[in-house]
Amino acid sequence: MRPEILYSLFKPLTSLPGIGTRNAKLVARIVGGEHVVDLLWHLPSGLIDRSFQPEIKDAPAGRVATLSIKVDRHVPAPNRRLPYKVLCSDHTGTAELVFFHARPEWLEQVLPVGEERVVSGKVEHYRGVVQITHPDHIGPLEDRESLAGIEPVYPLTQGLSPKTLNRAMAAALDTLPDVAEWLDSAHLAREGWTPWRAALRAVHRPAGQHDIDALAAPRRRLAYDELLANQLAMALVRAHMRRQGGRVTASDGTARTRAEAALPFTLTAGQNQALSEILADMSSDRRMLRLLQGDVGSGKTVVAALAMLEAVGAGRQAAVMAPTEILARQHFAAITPVFEAAGAKVALLTGRNKGAPRRRLLEDLAAGRIDALVGTHALIQDDVAFADLALVVVDEQHRFGVAQRLQIAAKGRSTDVLVMTATPIPRTLTLMAYGDLDISRLTEKPAGRKPIDTRTLPLTRLDEVLDGVGRAIGSGPDGGRRVFWVCPLVAESEALDLAAAEERFGALERRFPGRVGLVHGRMKGPEKDAAMAGFAEGRTAILVATTVIEVGVDIPEATVMVIEHAERFGLAQLHQLRGRIGRGAEASTCLLLYGGGMTATARERLKILRETEDGFRIAEEDLRLRGAGEILGTRQSGLPAFRIADIAAHGDLMETARDDAALILEKDGGLTSARGEALRVLLYLFERDAAVAYARSG
Ligand code: ADP
Ligand code: MG
Repeated sequence: MRPEILYSLFKPLTSLPGIGTRNAKLVARIVGGEHVVDLLWHLPSGLIDRSFQPEIKDAPAGRVATLSIKVDRHVPAPNRRLPYKVLCSDHTGTAELVFFHARPEWLEQVLPVGEERVVSGKVEHYRGVVQITHPDHIGPLEDRESLAGIEPVYPLTQGLSPKTLNRAMAAALDTLPDVAEWLDSAHLAREGWTPWRAALRAVHRPAGQHDIDALAAPRRRLAYDELLANQLAMALVRAHMRRQGGRVTASDGTARTRAEAALPFTLTAGQNQALSEILADMSSDRRMLRLLQGDVGSGKTVVAALAMLEAVGAGRQAAVMAPTEILARQHFAAITPVFEAAGAKVALLTGRNKGAPRRRLLEDLAAGRIDALVGTHALIQDDVAFADLALVVVDEQHRFGVAQRLQIAAKGRSTDVLVMTATPIPRTLTLMAYGDLDISRLTEKPAGRKPIDTRTLPLTRLDEVLDGVGRAIGSGPDGGRRVFWVCPLVAESEALDLAAAEERFGALERRFPGRVGLVHGRMKGPEKDAAMAGFAEGRTAILVATTVIEVGVDIPEATVMVIEHAERFGLAQLHQLRGRIGRGAEASTCLLLYGGGMTATARERLKILRETEDGFRIAEEDLRLRGAGEILGTRQSGLPAFRIADIAAHGDLMETARDDAALILEKDGGLTSARGEALRVLLYLFERDAAVAYARSG
């Protein structure tokens, strides 16, 4: 239950002055939430200094000034295209206030003739006359003091005026609750941070440009609060899982060794290392919570399959949960031969399993006649029950949250959890997204892989590319190489993307009749499978795809990748796409085609791709080029979206927050001390309600 002290912060936006239902929608859109607290996390991106208060004759063009004037005369607009003017003066000269599409009644009310007023706005000189067009503020002289200061500027949306937002913000800031301090006092003193309420007010009431900086003390404090809430929440979940204890899962190794001997290759040193780390976790009585991080094609699946056989060899079961149907099928295909070599049985469960066959499968699973189950989130359905699930592998590409990981793990007793991710993200981001999991990394590519020859070409040379593709695929069926052709994200519209892909498919099909396939996100499962299978088996030589092929897809025979409008893709995405080739023993080529009007950053992205295939380096460069804000901001990245913290600026705070969270739980795992109570409030403040439930009671 949310503590009472936070009630005012979780009131709807409409509880603020000037925010009705219509405005509330606009505000919610820019601040990303519907409560007062969401508005408070919307920090100024700049400021306007209104402290300059010249006399009219000294008011320079182009500068924001606050003038004290007397209203002399109103000159209504002679027609609809000309402005309404209000003539004013002080003892040094005259000025005009200019309004287009004005409402005369309103102007007569706020600027009555003969009265003195204070107005603020950007000064212009028009034919020698001092003018302010649409002053930002008009008020009585006694407002001069409050008006002639520093005004925060917020990112806005169409239809929402700064005045409305500022007014609502001021009201929200006036009623901030006086929460108990959740930070350690020594830490606070060391950083020179003020209490939460003061920090939040300082951020919204900047005294100068330096206060807008992400490195300003009040901003750092708020960022730290957020990072601490994040780390503490994850640490609580982790402690909860650990507390449930693990159990020893260890086999005599027969099944695993037999399967390993049957592999058509030997494991790399990195794979052996990762496998032994996983086996050590499984055979200890601690519960495993491990992240297996490795670039696309680095051979994670086979490591996972062998770990699964360890569980099977011990008379227990394993499960693999993948984010998409395609990926689940691929895992199933990769794991099946490994399991067969060991005489173990693996089954596939997706949303497509229905009726009697599904029922039989679930019966076999519950009876232990199936050793491992691979599937999509269909695995977490209620009626899916295992005989004795010991190991869960979650391949997530950042699509599952902590909750789903827990749900699948809850299907067993003290289940060991291995999270696999193909997105090599920098360490700070790993910490943010996964907390302090144990990490195994696969950094080398399997032996025998040839480097990918990556080239960039302007789209104007498409004809040459087509000639090259024609030569590559040869003439007869399966006579040559296989080509992935990726079509870009055109806009936010899936329909447009699709149209582009279909058009390219049509053009390629005319040129290479019968040899082109198409897959896209709108296709039904079986249709998609058929297109993929046609390509995998060599019936088609070119597969046109939207970014659906980004995830998974293992076709070692594909050795050419063409990416249209590569400049529109992110670095990480291009890297993931490119990882679909270069998986076999043949040399591979990646052609990045770019359109006109490339930005400097886009050019740099393509350059980095030409230079390296090292996913961890690419991830670091991506962070550098984009700034963490952007990476974290993209929803589908699955990384937590932060409201205030910006990893590019506050990365150093991350590790401190992690250590802080660990120490807190060590000393006060139930969050029952005075600081513990305050920390509960912090967790609720950042809507980590679920985590509070995991604080050990008593
Ligand atoms: P990931 O899951 O990390 O994307 P996979 O496990 O799917 O990578 O491996 C990609 C391909 O490399 C598969 O075809 C797999 O059989 C092969 N592979 C895995 N490990 C090795 C190795 N040590 N040597 C050669 N090929 C390997
Ligand atoms: Mg264990």
